[in-house]
Amino acid sequence: MSTDAQAAIARLRDSGLLKSKGLVGGKWVDSYDGKTVQVQNPATGDVIANVPCMGKRETDDAISSAYNTFYSWSKRTASERSKCLRKWYDLIVSHKEDLALLITLEQGKPLKEALGEVSYGAAFIEFFAEEAKRIYGDIIPPTSSDRRLFVLKQPVGVVGAITPWNFPLAMITRKVGPALACGCTVIVKPSEYTPLTALAAADLALQAGIPPGALNVVMGNAPDIGDSLLQSTQVRKITFTGSTAVGKKLMAGSANTVKKVSLELGGNAPCIVFDDADLDVAVKGSLAAKFRNSGQTCVCANRILVQEGIYDEFANALTKAVQNLQVGNGLVEGVVQGPLINEAAVEKVEKFVNDATSKGANVILGGKRHSLGMTFYEPTILGNVNSEMLVSREEVFGPVAPLLPFKTEEEAIKIANDTNAGLAAYIFTKSIPRSWRVSEALEYGLVGVNEGLISTEVAPFGGAKQSGLGREGSKYGIDEYLELKYVCMGNLEA
Ligand code: ADP
Repeated sequence: MSTDAQAAIARLRDSGLLKSKGLVGGKWVDSYDGKTVQVQNPATGDVIANVPCMGKRETDDAISSAYNTFYSWSKRTASERSKCLRKWYDLIVSHKEDLALLITLEQGKPLKEALGEVSYGAAFIEFFAEEAKRIYGDIIPPTSSDRRLFVLKQPVGVVGAITPWNFPLAMITRKVGPALACGCTVIVKPSEYTPLTALAAADLALQAGIPPGALNVVMGNAPDIGDSLLQSTQVRKITFTGSTAVGKKLMAGSANTVKKVSLELGGNAPCIVFDDADLDVAVKGSLAAKFRNSGQTCVCANRILVQEGIYDEFANALTKAVQNLQVGNGLVEGVVQGPLINEAAVEKVEKFVNDATSKGANVILGGKRHSLGMTFYEPTILGNVNSEMLVSREEVFGPVAPLLPFKTEEEAIKIANDTNAGLAAYIFTKSIPRSWRVSEALEYGLVGVNEGLISTEVAPFGGAKQSGLGREGSKYGIDEYLELKYVCMGNLEA
């Protein structure tokens, strides 16, 4: 570890939270062949830790442990599970500075944003601690007088949760919170780029009294770990956030053992600014929807559609706002744009920007790598983008705001829906009738009206079309981890 990395790690208030082993059956373990993977700080290239490069054997053991623990955990009362989750929530909150530091170190987002992720991520644990006590079944009026019909809701069983690097904590708590709340046990496979936050959170879960084996963490060889989870008949559910390509593989791989599947996949969010929008609200909302996490979220505005009458004014105002975004190491006060996760991410952004400019788009701001080097990219605005350009067809996952001019509401809806993705969409307008019309016409799972940041633990998050299956958060989010059982009690008058 370099001295810079050591100095950063020394800022942890509780150094015990820096774990560099996997968690299987409540024990911190190395990979069985001793191989490791490096975890790097994307802002500096420093190696922060080496974590075990695990594969099939370690995952098989984690599955056995989760399977054995399922019987005891699912039999605890809802109130007991709720208390453990609440304690976990309290521990996450009391360690929020440390968790945020780990997020910034391994993922790159600014510390303030990382703190926001910790609060957001913790909120799922709190919400599902409460929801654990509200998993009600039904009594159905019987079809004959000597019968009684019941619907029970029971935990689905062992869950494999595969998560990405862009929200190292929140993508885990959204899955593990509802799973543990209803009595499932879990094997988490965090991204190899960001395992340290996951391991720290798992350590806090153990401290909270969540029993050994209820929450396991393995990382390393993603396809091997994935195959082990998919092939096991003991794993009854796969929950995944990540790329559409990997999501499709996991869905296909789940077919053989007919697992329940929920997927949060890529988006291609349109952000539609109408002539009748409040300019300040539209700029603030678009800025937040586009540049949060340096554009690396699946709900980030990918295409900013701007009506002709407001195009120039909006482009100028957005440019002024984006010019002020300070780029740098997320640990530095005032920085609001961190690095991209890796070199491949920067190359993708470069490719999309070159494609757009070669087809007639103009660079209004930025448009190249940042002078800071590493994987920093300048916050960028492209003008006169059209639907044929790569930047409109696919997720750029970087700090690039493409502006697409349009004339009518019908045209905007058509452009917005002309994609296989359907996760988030945003509209900016002062008209209430238009807000309703356009919200209903958009083929998306989430719509923000005059708001650029809309995710919350109390509302259902998930996509339409190829953006995924199922919902996370809210009262709906727990259904993904429950199986319905119909019980018919007969011959009651015998
Ligand atoms: P991203 O591009 O956001 O990293 P990925 O879909 O590649 O999205 O990764 C999301 C998660 O899926 C990560 O934890 C990654 O390691 C994991 N992953 C990638 N390939 C596979 C696979 N074949 N089987 C299981 N998990 C995988």
